[in-house]
Amino acid sequence: MALNVIKKAIEEGKMRCPECKGSVKQFDKYVETCDSVWDGAGDSGLETKGAKVTLICGNDKCEWRERTEYWSEYIED
Ligand SMILES: [Zn+2]
Repeated sequence: MALNVIKKAIEEGKMRCPECKGSVKQFDKYVETCDSVWDGAGDSGLETKGAKVTLICGNDKCEWRERTEYWSEYIED
């Protein structure tokens, strides 16, 4: 589940801030995005499962935060 992946990445310091290159410390407003959220509009055949989250850097002097569906791009392996 995406929420667990995000939590784990933050706990382990693998979520990277693109601004200061430090580890992201917090996240906010996690929303699961899936077909059932769609209100009859669009193509119901689409299997788009994902999650949107606001990532908050939280490091000193860094104001970076981003609301994104592509949070996995900030996770380092
Ligand atoms: Zn930062």
